[in-house]
Amino acid sequence: MSPLTAADLGAPLAAALAAATEDRLVYDLAGIERRHDTLRNELPGVHVRFAMKACPVDEVLAALAGRGAGADAASPGEVEQALRAGVPAGRVHYGNTVKSDRNIAEAHRLGVRTFATDSLQDVAALAVHAPGARVFCRVATGGAGALWGLSNKFGCPPGDAVRVLVAARDAGLVPAGLSVHVGSQQMTSEAWHGAVDDLGDVLRALGRHGIRVDHVNLGGGLPALGYRDRHGAPLDPPLDKIFAVIREGMDELRRIHGGHLDFVVEPGRHLVADHGAIRAHVVRLTERRAADGERQHWLYLSCGKFNGLYEMDALQYRLVFPGHPDGPCVPAVVAGPTCDSDDAYSHEEGLVPVPAALASGDPVWVLSCGAYATSYTTRGFNGFAPLPYAFAGRPERTGADD
Ligand SMILES: *Cc1c(COP(=O)(O)O)cnc(C)c1O
Repeated sequence: MSPLTAADLGAPLAAALAAATEDRLVYDLAGIERRHDTLRNELPGVHVRFAMKACPVDEVLAALAGRGAGADAASPGEVEQALRAGVPAGRVHYGNTVKSDRNIAEAHRLGVRTFATDSLQDVAALAVHAPGARVFCRVATGGAGALWGLSNKFGCPPGDAVRVLVAARDAGLVPAGLSVHVGSQQMTSEAWHGAVDDLGDVLRALGRHGIRVDHVNLGGGLPALGYRDRHGAPLDPPLDKIFAVIREGMDELRRIHGGHLDFVVEPGRHLVADHGAIRAHVVRLTERRAADGERQHWLYLSCGKFNGLYEMDALQYRLVFPGHPDGPCVPAVVAGPTCDSDDAYSHEEGLVPVPAALASGDPVWVLSCGAYATSYTTRGFNGFAPLPYAFAGRPERTGADD
């Protein structure tokens, strides 16, 4: 079965999961801080702006702010939360290219001075509602190699990025930077090569227009390490290689730029996914005959797509059954508790071996689900409430409802 030890998991997280008698989402703040510090060692000099949507939890934002990180906010609500959690306004940027006049004005009033953009219309609005602000233009990427590509909706082609930043300068804004996002859970280092090539082209073209940006924002996309694919195989992203390619890319872009160029990263998933886990419980292990007559086991858990595991159609999480360290297993489709048939792992692809002796109420730990779990939670689909959360190594204080 899952011969997983406290050492794999991190002892504080394992202890908190073991101590929980009710369902909850547990974060290991010290683990998140360590992942942040490792990232800064791997990419010396980068400024970290945590992508808030990956874990909009005050304590997580405060812990990261304490290590020097800022926030990549996507709405006035996220800006307010970052400030409330103690992130200095100067370390908060508005990273969403999609924003109304009112969103811009509110963020500006709250003290945000740096905004993402990707269109002439958005630049014109920024010039009115955030006069004099610093803007960085998002350059589109293809998203190949990522579990979630993020292409189409954001960013403009390299040539248009030049036009957008020239317009920003002409409108009295500061053309401050360029950004990319290579796609979330990017599994290849090649994607970063491609992004650096495009950014280099734009830097050269900007130079011809007399524009020298002061920073490049390399976005998110750095992978979590603990996921399994839809067939249950470990995803195992080449993280060392990715870091090496990014370091080379930073050198290359500095050479092209020729002056002082800062680098920003906006990690979301990479910082929090592996340092959050859910203590859930078994609803029931059943055996039924499918339409084709074949017998199938189904393991229904107390959490699923609508309360913590929204990404379960693209990947599998590692499951630990602490009450069943050994004994025979059966292959099962794992599913959540709601009356929605999408609330399940894909049953064509990945049956999961689960202990045959599982009983209703047995605890189960869902690992590496610290990213996007709180954001992608419904308010109570079928009456299943959002999970409360807690912090490893700290006395309990639930946070979901207050
Ligand atoms: C969501 C998002 C991120 C974080 O992406 P991850 O893949 O979780 O690292 C970073 N930047 C922007 C603009 C985003 O929208």
